[in-house]
Amino acid sequence: MNSSENDKNTSIAFFKEKVNNFVRKRNWSNYHTPKNLIQALGIEIAELSELFLFKEYSVDEILKNKSLFESISDELADIFIYLISLVNCLGIDLTKSFNNKIEKNERKYPIKEFNDGKYYKK
Ligand SMILES: [Mg+2]
Repeated sequence: MNSSENDKNTSIAFFKEKVNNFVRKRNWSNYHTPKNLIQALGIEIAELSELFLFKEYSVDEILKNKSLFESISDELADIFIYLISLVNCLGIDLTKSFNNKIEKNERKYPIKEFNDGKYYKK
């Protein structure tokens, strides 16, 4: 692990290549179909959700609970790895997808109508 890597200095291309190498070296590419990756992604999201089942944690409680924080971090990484795997499988440019979708969201939720903290129109 390169400890100098962090969110500020690491590109999406780095993650795509690292996940691709991990999968290729294990000869798992045949298992990485869109259906399998979408299901795996859903399972990892369920694993994250399970950490909160029948519990209500505040942000402060999560930050103080090292074991819980590490479990959340691990599940988010699993989700991200499968997301990147799916992006690789379909040849998606995630930055373009992100920018296209955020522009759609900006049009769908104009600041003039959604500046009062509500998620829905009046
Ligand atoms: Mg997991």
